[in-house]
Amino acid sequence: MNVLQEFLELVPVENFEAQYSKDITESSFFEYPLKPIVEAEKRLIDSSQTSIGYFSMEYGLAPSIYHTLNRQEPLSSSNKFTQHGVFSNLRSMDTYFTIRIDKRLDLPIYSGGLGVLAGDTLKSTADLNIPMAAVGILWNKGYFKQNFWFRDGQRPQEMQWDPQTYPGLIPLKNRIVIKFKNETILLRPWKYYIYSFDRSFVVPLILLDSNLPDNSDFGKKLTDQLYRSDDETWRLFQRLILGKGGIGIFEEMQYQLDLFHLNEGHAAFSFIESSKGHSVEKIKEIFSKFAYTCHTPVAAGHDRFHESVLAPVLDEEDYKLLFSYGKDPEYEGVANLTTFSLNAAEKVNAVSHKHEEVMHMQFPNYSKKITSITNGIHTYTWLSEAFSRLFDQYEDRIGPWKQDPTCLKNVLNLKSDPAFRKALWDAHQENKKHLTSLLEVWKVDPNILTISWARRIAAYKRPSLILQDVDRLMEIGAKYGGIQIILAGKAHPMDNLAETHIDEMLTAIDSLDNNRKNVRVVMFENYDTYFGKLLSSSVDVWLNNPLPPFEASGTSGMKAILNGVVQMTTVDGWVCEVTQNPIGWFFGYEHKGGDIGSESELRLNEDSVKLYETIEKAADLYCKTNVKGELQIESTWIDMMIECIAVSAHFNTHRMVKEYQEKIWKEMLSK
Ligand SMILES: *Cc1c(COP(=O)(O)O)cnc(C)c1O
Repeated sequence: MNVLQEFLELVPVENFEAQYSKDITESSFFEYPLKPIVEAEKRLIDSSQTSIGYFSMEYGLAPSIYHTLNRQEPLSSSNKFTQHGVFSNLRSMDTYFTIRIDKRLDLPIYSGGLGVLAGDTLKSTADLNIPMAAVGILWNKGYFKQNFWFRDGQRPQEMQWDPQTYPGLIPLKNRIVIKFKNETILLRPWKYYIYSFDRSFVVPLILLDSNLPDNSDFGKKLTDQLYRSDDETWRLFQRLILGKGGIGIFEEMQYQLDLFHLNEGHAAFSFIESSKGHSVEKIKEIFSKFAYTCHTPVAAGHDRFHESVLAPVLDEEDYKLLFSYGKDPEYEGVANLTTFSLNAAEKVNAVSHKHEEVMHMQFPNYSKKITSITNGIHTYTWLSEAFSRLFDQYEDRIGPWKQDPTCLKNVLNLKSDPAFRKALWDAHQENKKHLTSLLEVWKVDPNILTISWARRIAAYKRPSLILQDVDRLMEIGAKYGGIQIILAGKAHPMDNLAETHIDEMLTAIDSLDNNRKNVRVVMFENYDTYFGKLLSSSVDVWLNNPLPPFEASGTSGMKAILNGVVQMTTVDGWVCEVTQNPIGWFFGYEHKGGDIGSESELRLNEDSVKLYETIEKAADLYCKTNVKGELQIESTWIDMMIECIAVSAHFNTHRMVKEYQEKIWKEMLSK
């Protein structure tokens, strides 16, 4: 049998002839090799192979920056995202210009760091040739599209895209049904394949879709919008689709999975679905095949449902099981998916050492189960081209970093090599010029100190910290030859507090309008992985100022250090593990033991004072490093850049997935 025939037997593509036959051929799957897909599908149905099922509500996959699958037809305009509006302190330009880049839309099935981590995990799992199948949801209307509206802050808009023509995404003929007391839901799977770096191995990702004519109007819309939370029943059904639908679709595909790994408690209904009809003893055995990663100490991150929402939906068996493992410890008549996962899973992990400490405080009864595996980033996705070339050029001194990114620690041996120091700075300036040329009309200059804060906007991340005292910023700008600040991020549309922070930021930026000479601030709309990569690799300083201890890990700083961008950060999440490394500046309130404190006491005043003192130190050193475009090669700034890269040898998903394998999966399988 030829490869294409085999593929179509294993993967019954809906509408193949009309829609996909040009892009899936004997030798090619959207310009990538087809054979590894057939091999992966065969491996997953072979019970003699050990495979893992992975669940996540969101996946940040970024074909705009890594492994760009292509169709023969040009990309449809609905799958492009080419314009980002700007709010700056050069307001007149914002009216006439947007940032324009010809790029494809990220697969719009993520909201932020949790999804990016899930995507990076799959990529490294593929790189390490570990058999895995993943499941998520096809969000027909993505997350949302962000527009700034002066004085009204952020205006969320519905996002439109076209799954049918998104390169690499294919609908299948299979269907599964999940039944509830008041509703029956039909689901169609789509598939997307995550290729390893060398394209020889893939991890299939199945995305569930309820947008089918046979579903009720309610049912059709359930997979519209990620984290839609204005309606509790809706939120419940989204969890049910992921958990129950996930188990159902793995069975439908006949995947022989030996372990399940839940990225967050959203998928906790997978426990319930796999235990249907089994005895208490058997259920214990089934649960012993589940691992669970908890990602947040913030209360809103833990899913709770009231019995009045659950009772009309769940049948008696599910309802009983939910409450027997997942009774909320605080509220009567409430089920808690975090509690459920903590009780049921065989292994639980926090996502940094600090987060493990915090989880022990939050969940003292589960201390024995909880370990930590610090998050990472996928090196090849987040490494800029200029730095990739630099590492290649010095490969004989660094080692085979492409096979094993932990080699990057060897850059320390190049610390006193003037040619390397110069090449490093040049690579950085090349990246920075890419950014400044995009922001040319806003007069952003490649030789002025540039700081960026960009991530999901949530109160505990304190997005407006740097804008607390604009007079102080102007003073620093005037003293040290200017300062440039680049900001971006989306707030969840129902998170009123976060939206208030956006209003506050826009108002502060506007108030700087007359003082644009020494301080330039540019905030842009619709932060995505393209900008995540561009900003974290091109600015001089990466600012990260969450309120400790509420940042479980954080990953954008890891993208920055990989690209030699120095850190200015509070001590929280992954950063607690590197405070002995000279990778930048640590500042602000530090959390020390005891209880976890309050996420509403943001300490904006005291910490912004500390931040401005820190910016002043950085600005002083920057002026002595980049003297009007002339590099002072001995500057300790360059030492810090090298230390950053060395530290990035550890903070990647290559190391992280290996730790999952060693500390969690292997042990569970040996039982
Ligand atoms: C990396 C990334 C994040 C996560 O950033 P944190 O600093 O961990 O919050 C969020 N969104 C996008 C688009 C990213 O690329």
